[in-house]
Amino acid sequence: SETPDTSSKTNIPTSPKSHENIKYSVLVLGCSAVGKSTLTNQFKTSEYICDYDSTQDEGDEKLVTVILNGDEFELLFIEQTIPENETETNLTLLVENADAYVVVYSVAHRESFQLAKTIIKHIKKLQDMEKKAVILAGNKTDLARLRTVSTDAGRDLATSQNCKFIETSAGINHHVDELLVGILSQIRLKYSQSDR
Ligand code: GDP
Repeated sequence: SETPDTSSKTNIPTSPKSHENIKYSVLVLGCSAVGKSTLTNQFKTSEYICDYDSTQDEGDEKLVTVILNGDEFELLFIEQTIPENETETNLTLLVENADAYVVVYSVAHRESFQLAKTIIKHIKKLQDMEKKAVILAGNKTDLARLRTVSTDAGRDLATSQNCKFIETSAGINHHVDELLVGILSQIRLKYSQSDR
């Protein structure tokens, strides 16, 4: 498909930005089967999405164009599955540099939450982290009867690590939009703060 000409749209007198879309990379981390790819696939259904590069569908990378408050952004989602019993030393080699980090666990899988804790603590030690958006996402809230990680436990972890927290269900498309907008808003906020 053709790339739409957006130059006229972005030509707002008050905006000092270039006409190029701003592009951010988002690393989606967590153990296997927590719903990383289901979540990023669900972004397709979001009302904020104007383009979704389906040629990259089968891989672990998805390029998504988002419109927020009239501005267009490209988000490159990169999924990374971390082995359940990974140690922090190995994480140093595994975790790539990105503009934002979404750490996903399943509220119905205690071990995935333990791993999320290890990953977040590791990420927070990386360089320049105060400039980066970090979001903890507890997925599969639809599995209410199988839940083993409480909302409070997730929120407490996020608070203690100074990152954002959201519970989602990729399965029933609950809070998926909020996650998407949350990621972009956090990136914008973090970079605007570090500009000062
Ligand atoms: P990934 O390995 O982290 O990318 O996990 P997947 O996206 O492949 O999902 C693993 C399994 O969990 C699949 O069978 C999904 O259909 C299922 N799944 C993903 N998200 C949800 C959810 O929110 N609720 C439920 N019930 N199942 C989910």
